[in-house]
Amino acid sequence: MTDELELINFCCEELEDAVSSDPEASLIEHDSGLILLNLGHREEDGETGVVLATIRFCPFCGTEIQTDEDIEAALGAVEIVE
Ligand SMILES: [Zn+2]
Repeated sequence: MTDELELINFCCEELEDAVSSDPEASLIEHDSGLILLNLGHREEDGETGVVLATIRFCPFCGTEIQTDEDIEAALGAVEIVE
């Protein structure tokens, strides 16, 4: 982890409580600093992967927590199952 990326400033306690670095959690704080929504496991071609989606707005209070630019800039570090 580098200091180049800004850490997420949590907008509310609900979000802070919900976000975890545990890859099995429903809201994941990724190493890149992005908060990702875990949509669960999906099996394709015999391989099981975790489907992750980026979110822009806090699901609890609606604050914009990361912009499209933030997501795009950090997405290179995120492995998303297509
Ligand atoms: Zn919030």
